[in-house]
This record gives sequence, structure tokens and C-alpha cells, in this order.
Amino acid sequence: MSNNVSRYVRQEIFAGIGKEGQGKISKGRVAIIEMSSIGAAVANNLARAGVGYLKLIDGDYIEMAELQRQTLFTEEEAKNETPRAVAAAQYLRGVNSEVVIDPVISDVNSGTIDNLIEDVDLVIDATDSMEVRLLLNEACHHLKKPWIYGGTLASSGMTMNVMPGDDEPCLRCFLGDEYDAGGEQPTCATVGILNSAASIVAALQSAEALKILSDSDAVRKDLVTFDVWENYFDLVPVDKDPDCPVCGRQGYAFYGKVGSQTATMCGKDSVQVIPKKEVELDFEKYAEKLASQGTVKYTKYTLDFSDGNIDIKLFKNGRAIIKHVSDEKRAKAVYAEYIGL
Ligand SMILES: [Zn+2]
Repeated sequence: MSNNVSRYVRQEIFAGIGKEGQGKISKGRVAIIEMSSIGAAVANNLARAGVGYLKLIDGDYIEMAELQRQTLFTEEEAKNETPRAVAAAQYLRGVNSEVVIDPVISDVNSGTIDNLIEDVDLVIDATDSMEVRLLLNEACHHLKKPWIYGGTLASSGMTMNVMPGDDEPCLRCFLGDEYDAGGEQPTCATVGILNSAASIVAALQSAEALKILSDSDAVRKDLVTFDVWENYFDLVPVDKDPDCPVCGRQGYAFYGKVGSQTATMCGKDSVQVIPKKEVELDFEKYAEKLASQGTVKYTKYTLDFSDGNIDIKLFKNGRAIIKHVSDEKRAKAVYAEYIGL
């Protein structure tokens, strides 16, 4: 292939996109919420497809048991507990240097969401938290921003485009008024997850993202639900509910509200603690302070502390993951004792 042939030639000769569509894609700005199995795969697809700007948002680090389904990460990174956003960005910069890759190590909550998504054209949902997803649904309704819902569990998956506009249904229109985000839901920790199911959700979201960014009229209206083990693949029409609490009655349960300071983390024996206000920590000072109480090591992004009993991973903005704890009260107490923000 000669040098003056575009690297996106296969997309440009595809009738659905063309050169004009590719031009729009290259100016597109997308935020991906969490570098999960779905998020990492979408980031890979969109970076290769030449989306102009990708914001990779994730507050977690890589673990060995995630490599079964997370395509961008290595054993070395799992051993080092590298932040997922950082590792994904490093890999994708090597894949496509034309794309601006912006890794953001952050939790997504009502205090951070505006900053995270207001400068993008489209948001990809790849979170495993229903609370974060419902917050995103409300934030995108408020900001009139399109987003693509995507979730997977065991061998099944679901995805839906949520477009702005008075006549467009939101995710809450599909879930209904009765849906309780705090209720006992099965999680990937209790029922497992197949990498193939996550790949399908990611592939469908990636295709829809290219359609939305290139202003295609082929954007899918229906919700997709499938199960690769039970052998079904269905399209489900979602109607706008005039009485929907979010897009009908314009009431928000999460957006603009003060969120919880703690959260248990899916599939991990850990609790995350968020400080009351964002700070910029000086790890050197913290390392000095904690050195008398246990072992400390730190990198540019995280500080690890252990006293043989308690393990803490502290991030620059004061957020911490307290390991081997499932009780949120206990996690808060550990945080207050050792970090004290
Ligand atoms: Zn709605």
C-alpha cells in the first residue's frame, strides 16, 4: 500500500461511511466509562477506526482474573496492578498515534460526571455498576448527549442507543419505574462472565458509535438482547414512557445529588472510599507518614500501603481502595485512621 492511501481506506470504501463519514469520525470525541471487558474492546475498535479523541475513564487497576476477558492488558500489568486507564492508553497510543488518547483515573459519581463527559460528543457505557449507569442516563438526559448502554453478565448481553430528543426513550423508559438500582442484582462475581458475550456487546456499541459520529440514518432504534449459551439474539422495541421519572417527569435520583462516599467493588473483596472533596496528594509526604506503620510503595499514579493486616491502594485524588474488606463502615474507619482526609 503506498503512503498516500489512507489508513482508513477500508472504512472509506464502505458505503455506509465513505470519505465524508470518515472525516466526521476523525473529528469525533468519545468518552468510555470504564476500561472493563466491554470498554477495553470498544476503545480498541474506536482507536483503530480513527475516532479523533478518546477519553478512557477508569478508577480501578488490573487484576489477573480480568485477563480472561480484558483484551488490552498483560500479565505484567496485572502483577504491577497498573491503573486500567493508563495501561489502555499506553497500548492504544501504539496502535494509532493519530488519535488523542486521554486516560482519566477517576471514579464516576455525581460529583465528577459533568467534568468527565461535557466535552465529548458521545459516551459509551461499559460500567458494571447499575448506579453509575443510571447516573449516566440522567446526566446525558440533562446535557442532551447521546450515550450507548452496554452490559453483560454470564453468557448474556444487552445494548441500546440512548439518543437526545423529546421523543426518544431513555434507559429508564425500558427499566420502568419500579427498578431498584440498590436491590440485590446478580454480578459477574456471582454468576461469572464469558469474554464472547462482552465482545459482542462491544462490537455492537462500536458500530453504533461510528454511525452516530458519522450522522448515519442507520442508527439502531431497538434494544438488543442476546445469550451466546442459550442461543438467542433479539431486538426489543423500546417506547418512550411519558411518565418516565427521568425523561418524562424530569426528575433525577442520582444526578446533582450528593453520592455515597463508599462503594463495594464488583468481583473484588474491596471497598472504595471517596474523600469529601477532591485533593491532589503528595505521595512522598504520605509515604513518610505511613512508613512507621507498615510497608509503603508508590508510583506516579498510586500508593500502596500494607501493615500485614490492612491493604490500601491510594490514588492521587484521595480516593482509596481498601482491600480484604466487605463492610463499608469498616472501610471508612480504616480510611479515617490511615489516610485521614
Ligand atoms: Zn425515559
